[in-house]
Amino acid sequence: MRLLLVEDNEELAQLLIQRLRAAGYETDLLTTAAEAQAAVATTRYAAMVLDLGLPDGDGLSILREIRQREDPLPVLVLTARGGLQDRVSGLRSGADDYLVKPFAFEELLARLEALLRRPGQLLGRALQIANLAFDTESRQAFIDEKPQLLSARETAVLELLMRRKDRVVSKKLVEDHIFGLSGDVASNAIEVYIHRLRKQLSDRGAKVQIHTIRGVGYLISEEKAA
Ligand code: CA
Repeated sequence: MRLLLVEDNEELAQLLIQRLRAAGYETDLLTTAAEAQAAVATTRYAAMVLDLGLPDGDGLSILREIRQREDPLPVLVLTARGGLQDRVSGLRSGADDYLVKPFAFEELLARLEALLRRPGQLLGRALQIANLAFDTESRQAFIDEKPQLLSARETAVLELLMRRKDRVVSKKLVEDHIFGLSGDVASNAIEVYIHRLRKQLSDRGAKVQIHTIRGVGYLISEEKAA
């Protein structure tokens, strides 16, 4: 299980990393908002521990951007500011929990564990539509309980659609999700991935349909009998 720690205080960061490792969490450390922004767009973490006061900006801006993308990454915010107003604005920006410095490591660990266990969060959650299942921890798709081999991008699209079963997912969100912040995306690239994924699923007997809602996005649902 991999965590992302965004903290510019080196002493605190090293201490946290050591103790998180001892508790069984591999942790990547980043020290600026810009690096963190790029990392969360391209790497999957089980959770992020985010300091708000970063040298190049406010951690809350990262949080807002993640939530705008509808990324469900659990986020525990750390801050030295204890004012009630800051807590409220932090939580409204999409933090799952909040810890004011200084704190005891045991408290951080307890809150982190609570976030990772929270139902509806990322870990070990099985998504299911008809005979198609997706394990969000191993990121493995199954049809009739049989594991399916899909490319990384097909897997990413499938997970995104399955998380929003029966709801339209905008083309823009699919684009951001599979290409991250890398920028240039050919205009038909998403359509190509969707087409490929649709074909793979139907060839392998998944009883689901991926609908294209023209000019809006995509939607996955259980296959309706003709
Ligand atoms: Ca700081």
